[in-house]
Amino acid sequence: MNAKIGRLERALDALAPRGRDCDLCPRDCRGDRTLGSSGFCGMGDRAVVAQALLHYGEEPVLSGTEGPPGRGSGTIFFSGCNLRCLFCQNHQISWGHQGKALTDEELAGTMLRLQDEGAFNINLVSPTHLILPILRALRLATERGLAIPLVYNSNGYEKSDVIERLAGVVDVYLPDLKYRSPALALRYSGAGDYFDRASAAISEMYVQQPDLIVDDAGLARRGTIIRHLMLPGGAEDSKAVLDWIAGSLTPSLCLSLMSQYHPCHKAPEEIRRPIAAEEYRDVLDRARELGFENLFLQPEIFGPDDHLVPDFRRPQPFRWK
Ligand code: SF4
Repeated sequence: MNAKIGRLERALDALAPRGRDCDLCPRDCRGDRTLGSSGFCGMGDRAVVAQALLHYGEEPVLSGTEGPPGRGSGTIFFSGCNLRCLFCQNHQISWGHQGKALTDEELAGTMLRLQDEGAFNINLVSPTHLILPILRALRLATERGLAIPLVYNSNGYEKSDVIERLAGVVDVYLPDLKYRSPALALRYSGAGDYFDRASAAISEMYVQQPDLIVDDAGLARRGTIIRHLMLPGGAEDSKAVLDWIAGSLTPSLCLSLMSQYHPCHKAPEEIRRPIAAEEYRDVLDRARELGFENLFLQPEIFGPDDHLVPDFRRPQPFRWK
């Protein structure tokens, strides 16, 4: 038997019972997911998929550099969310649940279709609350020849014991680390324990996949990349996030420092502006002082028409340049 199938089955054996009294994420809703969507994430036992497409806007080790209509990251955007930030740029699907409920067979077929289209990887966006249907679909797809790397693209609000079960299943971890401050996490994401949970989960991800390994084409085969989206006025908290990564993990870890924040959805007044170039430079200076060298950077400023906010009402939600 393919070793990955064995690992998927062991993960499912351990995690599937937890869906009946759901404690799969830090919200600990304790509802029975097989009976429907009673929890914070609003999802039952099926994966709801808003879009599944080749994505050209992720970090180049994931999306490559070909651009459309070339190969890209085989990205599956799941609906619902266990965090639901007030400023979420994907709020149409994270808050709004736009999308189609798929059977495990259909989700497996979606993964295989993306591989057939040339995807460099399968990139699961917001997988946390749908880990059970995802694992079931992965088992089917792997039996049928899915072989490209699996990217776990998460908001970071995870339980570390669930992440432990994904050892040998996930090739590339791509977690956010959004806040160090419990007050900010509570205000913007309703999760005052965000840093405690995310830092523990990311530490486990780092144990499993410490170094970014790329192939001859520069594409990620495995590793961990932490994303940090800077918020307007939040430079001090951003620096505290970087201090923790450098001090508790290592500054050699890959860091994606993101300036693309665009005020969306219910963003309160104090964050209804883009970040300033000086704020980005200030935090980047701290990253360099701390010794981060494996950095993915974005432009210092995004103009009003340059924002990267997708529109999931369109067949192609992204405006590729
Ligand atoms: S996965 Fe959903 S239902 Fe389960 S604990 Fe988290 S938010 Fe609640």
